[in-house]
Order: sequence, then structure tokens, then C-alpha cells
Amino acid sequence: MSFYGLLDLSVWQLILTTLVLTHVTIVSVTIYLHRHSAHNAVELHPALAHFFRFWIWLTTSINTKEWTAIHRKHHATTETEDDPHSPVVKGIRKVLWEGAELYEEAATPETLERFGKRTPEDWVERKVYTPHKHLGIAILAVVNLLLFGVHGIWIWAVQMMWIPLLAAGVINGIGHFWGYRNFECADNARNIVPLGLLIGGEELHNNHHSFPHSPKLSRRWYEFDIGWFWIRVFQFFGLARPKGVRAIGLRIPGKREVDLETVQAIANNRMQIMRAYRKDVLEPVLREQKNRVARELRPLYRRARKLIVREETIIRPKERRSLDQILEENELVRHLHDKAQELQQLWQRTSLRPQEKVQALLEWCRQAEASGIKYLEEFAADLRSYALRPAS
Ligand SMILES: [Zn+2]
Ligand SMILES: [Zn+2]
Repeated sequence: MSFYGLLDLSVWQLILTTLVLTHVTIVSVTIYLHRHSAHNAVELHPALAHFFRFWIWLTTSINTKEWTAIHRKHHATTETEDDPHSPVVKGIRKVLWEGAELYEEAATPETLERFGKRTPEDWVERKVYTPHKHLGIAILAVVNLLLFGVHGIWIWAVQMMWIPLLAAGVINGIGHFWGYRNFECADNARNIVPLGLLIGGEELHNNHHSFPHSPKLSRRWYEFDIGWFWIRVFQFFGLARPKGVRAIGLRIPGKREVDLETVQAIANNRMQIMRAYRKDVLEPVLREQKNRVARELRPLYRRARKLIVREETIIRPKERRSLDQILEENELVRHLHDKAQELQQLWQRTSLRPQEKVQALLEWCRQAEASGIKYLEEFAADLRSYALRPAS
């Protein structure tokens, strides 16, 4: 055995190996901890599930119950004082650089008890993984030294930094702070970049908060979720079974009746629907109205385009003032604003019973059709025509 370990790799081989190793860790976190354990969005073959659990213990010293509980709590309390890692509440610096410490703090017995149900409690969990949380990474250091010699040290350091920085810091920090939004979900979750390669698809965090039980995180044609790619590969080999893939809504020309299927199709397609509302209803009305008002008020109408459909809780104080001004100013715009909010209630108010949602949607369409606003009438007719197509 040389100074450079049993494998004696070149620099490029070492870099490639490190990237592969960290990718396996990321895939374990996103598929096993996140999509399987926390959200129950994918079933895994016991052998694969255990491989992931072992790998996470070996390379990160994360405990399944702790991670699962903290993550479920994050979804239940997003962007409030109770959220274990909200950059909106705790500040972006803290979440970005001290992500792992925030997990340590959050893992209280009450949190584990309340949010940690349905996590492994078998012999190896009770005797090895949980009581000897840091043994894995110590073994890893030795294995690295054996395989890679002195290079094993920096490879180990990279492995140790990867999850705290990329997963805890970048997703929980940047994914709730910067980036773009497909959906107006009721918190500040954002998609970081459309290509989910480095962090296993977790980059698409706004999509995830909008559909937390979906095993697939990409939503638009240009978004790619590599975690979903791996789930499909495992599925091909009979090792994984994704659950809760949402049926896609489609429009059936001439369909007029509003039923449960219409409500579900609309909720599943809410991104397209809110975009259509903005483009086909709001924008033409705002354009027409803008030409009727005094010149100094026109910039207000331009800004209102986005603000009117934005989730209330994330509107900044300055934007709030612009919005209030135009809503007070223009009754027609206020009406469209209220209609947008009402529509979003359909999928945001989880307390509504299915039949109440059907009634609410029907009422929404009737009012829209009687509003005398041509664009709104046409939009309501489009809503009525939605139905479900089973997911492929
Ligand atoms: Zn989040
Ligand atoms: Zn989640």
C-alpha cells in the first residue's frame, strides 16, 4: 500500500470519485429522508431503504427520526417563530451558515415525539445508528485513509461539508429567500434553479412546498429533478414505488358542470390557472384602465400586475402600499384582486370539505359570469371545462 492509499488514483479520478460519493449522499437524503421518510411520497424496497439509512449514518451522522421530525415541523410551521430554519424569521446568514446547528437545536424530545412518527425503530437503529450517531463518520475517515491515502483527508472534509452547506444551508436558506416561484404557496419557498442536479432536485423548493406529497419535484418542461430520475430507475428494477403523483388537469371543450373532479383538476393545475388569470384577465383589464388614469398613476398599474396575484403573506411593506393604493383607487381592479384571492382559497383552505369546495367554485364561476367583465366571464367558462386525466 502506497502513501496514496490502496486505490492510488490520479487527481481527476479523485475529484470524480468525490463527486460520485457526495451524489450518493444527496440522493440518499432526498429520496430516503425527504421523499420517503418525511413525506411518504415513495415506497422503497427494504434493502434499498436500509442501504440509504446506512449510507446516511456513514457519511453524515444524520439520524432518520430527528431529520424527519424537524422537516415535518418545518412544513407544519413554515416561516413562523416555530419553524426550525426559516430565513425569513431567523435571517438568511444564520440559516445559510449554521444550518446544521439549527437542526441540533431543534431536535427536542417534544418535536421528536410529535413529528417523528413512522420512522425506523429496529435493532440496528436502537443499538447502533441512534446511540452511536458519530461512529459512522469516524469509520468513514478510516476507510478514506485506506482507500485514498492522504487524499482521504480532504475527501472526508468535503463529505462532511456537503450536506450542512448544500442541503441545510442552501435549500433551507436560499430556497426560502431567493429564486423564482411557480406557485403562490402560503410561504416564501422558492425554486433556486430549474436544473436540480447538484442537490438532487431539492433546488425546486417552491414546487415542493406547493405539492409536498409529490415524489416528483419538477413541474415545468425546462425543470429537471435528478432525484425523480433515480426514483424511476429504482422503480424499473422493482426497488421503488412512487405514490401520490398528481393527475393532470385537462380541458374538455363544452364541459359546463362543476364537480369534485373540476375542483381537483383546478388544484392540481393551479400554476397554469393563476398564470392564465394574470395573462387573460388581469393584464388586459390593467392595460385598459391604465390608459384612462392620470400619467403619474400609470407605473402603479404596471406594478400591480404581479402584486395582485401574489400570496398575501409575502408582500413587502412598500409593495403593500402600492397595492393598497390601486385597490382603493380602482373598484374594478379591486374586484379582480378579490376574485384572485377567493380562487386561491380553494386550494389553500384545507379545512374546507370537498363538497364545500365544489359549492365555492360554482359560486365563484356564477359571480364571475355575472360580473359584466368579458375577460372574467371567459375565464370562468375555461375553469368549468377542467377535468382529470390520470397520471402517466
Ligand atoms: Zn422548505
Ligand atoms: Zn419537504
